[in-house]
Amino acid sequence: MMSKLALDGGQPVRASMLRYAGQSVDAADRRAVEEVLRSDWLTTGPAVASFERSLCDFTGARHAVAVNSGTAALHAAACAAGIGSGDEVIVPAISFVASANCVLYQRGTPVFADLCPDTLNIDPTDVERKITPRTRAIVAVDFAGHPCDHDALSGLARNYGIPVIADSAHSLGAVYQGRNVGTLQRFNTFSFHPVKHITTGEGGAVLTDDEKMAHSMRSFRHHGIDFDLHARGKINSWEYDVVTLGFNYRIPDINCALGISQLTKLKGWLERRRAIVTAYRKAMAELPMLQLPEERPDCLSAWHLYVVRLNAETLNASRAEVFAALRAENIGVNVHYIPIPWMTHYANLGYGRGQWPVAETEYERLLSLPLFQDMTDQDMTDVIKALDKIWNAYRR
Ligand SMILES: *Cc1c(COP(=O)(O)O)cnc(C)c1O
Repeated sequence: MMSKLALDGGQPVRASMLRYAGQSVDAADRRAVEEVLRSDWLTTGPAVASFERSLCDFTGARHAVAVNSGTAALHAAACAAGIGSGDEVIVPAISFVASANCVLYQRGTPVFADLCPDTLNIDPTDVERKITPRTRAIVAVDFAGHPCDHDALSGLARNYGIPVIADSAHSLGAVYQGRNVGTLQRFNTFSFHPVKHITTGEGGAVLTDDEKMAHSMRSFRHHGIDFDLHARGKINSWEYDVVTLGFNYRIPDINCALGISQLTKLKGWLERRRAIVTAYRKAMAELPMLQLPEERPDCLSAWHLYVVRLNAETLNASRAEVFAALRAENIGVNVHYIPIPWMTHYANLGYGRGQWPVAETEYERLLSLPLFQDMTDQDMTDVIKALDKIWNAYRR
């Protein structure tokens, strides 16, 4: 006989809340940060350039421009891509809202596309349907760490003469047809928020093979100042010129030192995430209430999130009830993400509901289970135990 759900007053499977994601910071990370704090450069110093080189070494990209958030990276890419007033940019209907906000920052118009049912990534067929003469870019999010259909998207980009901005916030370390994420599109943006694969506290970067774009984004993160005029001896050394409108999106050396140290551990962390996923898949394969995430044969996911889908017809409980029951068992589940056009700000801009059949149907079934490199085997067992309890309580 299974025990009573914690939601109904039973004993939870564990005593403390298991988070769904989170950073790993060790003594080497702390030493690296302290070293910067003892140096002359807290910002715009050698650790920034060194972090950028490390990102290039890890991915094989030619240029990296580090900034102070993943959102700033998207904004820099949107500006460098030339997005302006009235330009349309195609964005997946489900992502973190920053994927679409970056278009609004540039006074462009996000046009939401539906998702592929297997990966929940942007569907290239729907993207093509939504291309108009005003389309200026496509934002491609590698949802949960699984690469998009990048070849199909690159093909569209070529045919219509527009760039793809790969929002790779979930997919640092993923591989698409043998090629590393970070090298797949003209712009490849990353986030180093603590829930992501590596952290700098807050931080982000754009990777590109295009030297001109890299140069323009370096200026964008620093008020639009053209420091090249000095290099070319065009002006006196105290002078500077602001050539376009930029922002202060600089990332401190303090943060970059943490990023460099984190990156040395990423390979092992990706392996650990994959091992957790393998164990999850084995343990959950027999649970009819779950549809498990799949990896396409030409991809290696970076497994940022473990997003399962609930098979409602097998249960006497809604997603909200399953969510609450898991939280009561101290399993920190989450939902990634509410469709962006459903947000009040977007509704106020005129976006409606009911236009993205896959995204809006699948959203109702989504549940993110805990997945991060520091999870112990006991943590995994707790997640599986809690799911078993819930299946036994709610099975139809
Ligand atoms: C985290 C995230 C961002 C934003 O990154 P920040 O560093 O938090 O600004 C953008 N897009 C996606 C898909 C993300 O998950």
